[in-house]
Amino acid sequence: MNDSIRSTQTDVLIVGGGPAGLTAARELRRLGVARVTLLEREAETGGIPRHCFHPGYGLRDLRRPMNGPTYARRLSDLAIAAGVDVRTETTATRWSDSELGLLVTSRLGVETIRATAVILATGARERPRSARLVPGDRPDGVYTTGELQQAVYLHKQPVGKRAVIVGAELVSFSAALTLAHAGVEVVSMLTEQPRVQTFPTVPIALGLRQRFPILTDTSVTRINGDRTTGRVIGIEITGPPGSRTIGCDTVLFTGDWIPDHELARLGGVRIDPASGGPLVDTSLRTSRPGVFAAGNLVHPVETADLCALDGKALAATVADFLDHGPGSADVLEVQAGDGIAWVSPGLLRIGAPAPHGRFTVWPAQALAGVRLEVRQGTRVIKRKRLLDGAVPGRPIHLVSDWQSGVDPAGGPVCVWIRGN
Ligand SMILES: Cc1cc2nc3c(=O)[nH]c(=O)nc-3n(C[C@H](O)[C@H](O)[C@H](O)COP(=O)(O)OP(=O)(O)OC[C@H]3O[C@@H](n4cnc5c(N)ncnc54)[C@H](O)[C@@H]3O)c2cc1C
Repeated sequence: MNDSIRSTQTDVLIVGGGPAGLTAARELRRLGVARVTLLEREAETGGIPRHCFHPGYGLRDLRRPMNGPTYARRLSDLAIAAGVDVRTETTATRWSDSELGLLVTSRLGVETIRATAVILATGARERPRSARLVPGDRPDGVYTTGELQQAVYLHKQPVGKRAVIVGAELVSFSAALTLAHAGVEVVSMLTEQPRVQTFPTVPIALGLRQRFPILTDTSVTRINGDRTTGRVIGIEITGPPGSRTIGCDTVLFTGDWIPDHELARLGGVRIDPASGGPLVDTSLRTSRPGVFAAGNLVHPVETADLCALDGKALAATVADFLDHGPGSADVLEVQAGDGIAWVSPGLLRIGAPAPHGRFTVWPAQALAGVRLEVRQGTRVIKRKRLLDGAVPGRPIHLVSDWQSGVDPAGGPVCVWIRGN
């Protein structure tokens, strides 16, 4: 490494100033950790909630309902008041060669920050059109929800007049709200799934008044653009009752998450191939000693308050690590069985309860009349009836009360979906 690069030292270095990172940072200070440094590549901390101008934030962590920007500001203020060294417009770009630490780039230039522990809380993003392999023209007017919200709320840019939303999960209704705010008519929402991927009360809870058709079992087969204006003029879809074209000037690709895992991969941290995030145990340790991960990076995606509660739980683990070192414990795999895409945490550390008492289970397919089962070998240690079935895009929360029934010598645990 270049000797001229400035080098500083901290106790805990946190990458990502969203709900998970900010809450972990604040809690570490509350637990008495002297030097907590948090890096955020954007000009402001707060993460995704900064551009989600609707209610639905803060319920389970701050115990007060609020909109996204208020929540983002509140978490940021609390972290700064707690004495966290918050550095915005600062991007962690790679790991230092020798000791635990990261190379960061900011307006001040390049610097190495060495740390006793590193927390990765870099969040998740929606797969853009290119990653979804949707054929057709490449016109303007195609967004993910995050891009749309930044354009509308943060940069005050005009979007189109008539939009189609691809996806029907929580975030898709958030996109509909943003479009309504921008004066854009939602022509249609569509999903490849046989049903809407969130709870029926969500649009009402978000305050969405606009009504639009929701097409299930339907996918986009092509995007058409106008060669002269360079703008979207419609999409081709297939689904009952057949193939057809919908006229629109804006297409929103929502949901379909991918963790922001580049830094984790560069750090040699073991990745869960199914979720795409770092594989963590129930105390949110990664495979690399001294490196921890929390929030949507490890479970793409959950709501912000649960990410914040991850951060809070992780702070206790990291504070213990600083005082007593890595320690040792038996770790068992938590495997995703039939009907399940992934389970987070994917490793069970004996004696360490899952963060805020639950595992996140992501269904692989839509199923009705089913139950969730946790097994170790042939022994069933938990059954949970899924009253509303299972559907990809809507996480199942599996309360971790079964952990005490696990035999440390009994081999991997498997979570699967069975017919009732
Ligand atoms: C449109 C939309 C609507 C939503 N609505 C709700 C809702 O109503 N209620 C709710 O509870 N949740 C909602 N969510 C989910 C919620 O916003 C997320 O669960 C939450 O923000 C995740 O927190 P996080 O800390 O894990 O990650 P994020 O909020 O994504 O924060 C990660 C941060 O890390 C930073 N970062 C990444 N890489 C680097 C790097 N290398 N260097 C420095 N910084 C880096 C990013 O800039 C970002 O600020 C919504 C999400 C979306 C997209």
